Amino acid sequence: MSTLPSIKRLDPTVINRIAAGEIIQRPANALKELIENSLDAGSTQIQIQAKEGGLKLLQIQDNGHGIKKEDLAIVCERYTTSKLKKFEDLSTIATYGFRGEALASISHVAHVTITTKTEDSKCAYRANYTDGKLAPPRPGQSADPKPCAGNNGTQITAEDLFYNMPQRKKALRSASDEYNRILDIVGRYAIHNAGVSFSCKRQGSMTADIQTTTTATIIDNIRQIHGSSVATELLYGERTFESQAFTMKSYISNANYSVKRTTLLLFINNRSVESPAIKRMIENVYSALLPKGGHPFVYLSILIKPENVDVNVHPTKQVVNFLNEEWIINSIQEVFQELLENANSSRTFYTQSLLPGAPATNADNSLFSTSTNKVAVYHQVRTDSRTTTMDSFLTGPIASYGTQSSISSIQDDANGTKRTNDVLEEEKNDEDVDMDTDSTLTYNKPSDTGVTSKADGSVDLVSKSQKRIKRDRVEVTLTSVLTLRKNVKKSEHIGMTDLLSNHTFVGCVDDTLALIQHQTSLYLVNYAVISEELFYQIALAEFNNFGFIELSTPISIKECISIALDTEEAYGTLPPQLQSKEQVAEIIVSKLMEFATMLEDYFSMLVNSEGQLMALPMLLRGYIPTMDKLPMFLLRLGTEVDWEDEQTCLDTLSREIAIFYSTEPPSPLPDNPAEYKRRHDRYLWQIQHLIFPAMKTTRFIAPKSLVRDGSSYITQLASLSDLYKIFERC
Ligand code: ADP
Ligand code: MG
Repeated sequence: MSTLPSIKRLDPTVINRIAAGEIIQRPANALKELIENSLDAGSTQIQIQAKEGGLKLLQIQDNGHGIKKEDLAIVCERYTTSKLKKFEDLSTIATYGFRGEALASISHVAHVTITTKTEDSKCAYRANYTDGKLAPPRPGQSADPKPCAGNNGTQITAEDLFYNMPQRKKALRSASDEYNRILDIVGRYAIHNAGVSFSCKRQGSMTADIQTTTTATIIDNIRQIHGSSVATELLYGERTFESQAFTMKSYISNANYSVKRTTLLLFINNRSVESPAIKRMIENVYSALLPKGGHPFVYLSILIKPENVDVNVHPTKQVVNFLNEEWIINSIQEVFQELLENANSSRTFYTQSLLPGAPATNADNSLFSTSTNKVAVYHQVRTDSRTTTMDSFLTGPIASYGTQSSISSIQDDANGTKRTNDVLEEEKNDEDVDMDTDSTLTYNKPSDTGVTSKADGSVDLVSKSQKRIKRDRVEVTLTSVLTLRKNVKKSEHIGMTDLLSNHTFVGCVDDTLALIQHQTSLYLVNYAVISEELFYQIALAEFNNFGFIELSTPISIKECISIALDTEEAYGTLPPQLQSKEQVAEIIVSKLMEFATMLEDYFSMLVNSEGQLMALPMLLRGYIPTMDKLPMFLLRLGTEVDWEDEQTCLDTLSREIAIFYSTEPPSPLPDNPAEYKRRHDRYLWQIQHLIFPAMKTTRFIAPKSLVRDGSSYITQLASLSDLYKIFERC
């Protein structure tokens, strides 16, 4: 006699129960499926009741299209669905449910009762289910659906959840915990489905814990469920990315709002899901903006072509995979950053002290982080400690990042005011923070922009906005300039122009390279080189019409040039001199003074009678070149510019300005890593938010030299269709 256990086929009911337990892990999972069914049925009113956290009873009543009497016998069997007929439909499915598993699963772990009435039926029908099949309500009675009274729509009740899975039941913590999860799910769907009224209450309670109306907007619903403290601080963003076939819509909290934990209401194709990657991106975006330990509120709804989403990764359909994930997340991140930055500008200046940390790139790109192909536009200038503080000479938008301050928009509610003052306190101690704005700088005569008191930001701002003067644009008729502009046009590479003016910015790879997308391809571009071309063209286009970047303290040109000469000497790159360094510097200063009027009129470069530099041209609103390059720029104005012939002079001068303004990361500051990080963050911020957008807005013409003789300033990395395949395999 063998004592070996024999292998037996599991009872199908047990199999189904195990499978059901996978899908329905707790009352909130069941409810989510039921809510989705109600929404699929076109309901505008969904009422939910729960007893003991849904474990004793979970009931949902809707006013949707109902279930036909004939179908009642099979709705709770597995794989019965009215939403999917053949496998291919899976890819274009637009409704929530499609696998016909939810009701079946619930009926395997609970006693289910369905009461339903379609519009054209005279009465409602009620049916009971156990293990997927019709069951008699009481022993000995018929299991057939029974006619009864009822409204159009469906009521589904699940009782004694997990009555046949005692272990599972024990594992669930507490009724109140489960009820909170129910409220969480109802809240999410209520917010997302503006136009549908939701209510949720404990059975027997007189008041609902959630109650929304059919006329409420998403914001109304957020206010209703999460309170007005968050609802008043939301920024709305909406964007369609045709190249990536997705659209997004979001309400995200601004910098005034900060709580202990991130609230992320995420919907992908109208299904509430979780995405750790998206959550990480959000926390990353906000980490620089919110006080330490502070977290945002984010409602985000994404629609992706259904065929690009795989919802079948996880039994609860809670986690979804989609193709193109990194791209999509990057694009969303960009939108969020834009929203937050614009909001900061229209709110208060205090965010300026927070913004410098704003991460402009994302760490994911470290994949490509090779700085080997860094192109030095010209010898890097390493200056002494005197020049490392040059940024602080600027009254310009260095701290404002191209934002516009508006005193009237300072928050006046209790919290807002407090917060603003707090930060103002901080700013009083922060030497580098400046209250000025670029808009003032762009149009004011320099004499109007002096900052009187850094500490007294508010007063300063008011007086500034009153003083704002807009300079009329001067039409340029100089043949020399027109010829130079034509030459640019002549050297155009049409394909590259199109590429750069219609790109989507993906992210900076390092201090010289960035990724952009154009149509279905991904390109690596050397923005250090391209930005020089960009600024050269801006210099020609804005000739005679620049705004000023004013220096708060005039800088001695001679001293500055001496620094450059010392550096050149230290690097052994100084040609043998006929004159002493001192004399060279003096000659250049007198040259610049001689041409001071021309420099001021044409290039907004102010040189005073003492040989000091007072202002530089504003080429791109909000953009400040790396000041480390200023000494070399001034030196080269003496050595590289031909001051005799008009056209050559304007050409070489524009070129030198372009070299100066072209992007170059700040020099390391070994003694002050925090300050270096601040400058470096600002540098990358400018790349993303000023340089690349300018390629679109300034009608930038890509010169043939960018692609000539195989020099790879723009390299195609991959085409999206290939990437799809890669992601698919992941
Ligand atoms: P699925 O939603 O994946 O189709 P379910 O098991 O959730 O599968 O539902 C099975 C079927 O029952 C649905 O296809 C739908 O026809 C019907 N149904 C379920 N709930 C409702 C409801 N609230 N109103 C109308 N029909 C419903
Ligand atoms: Mg369903």
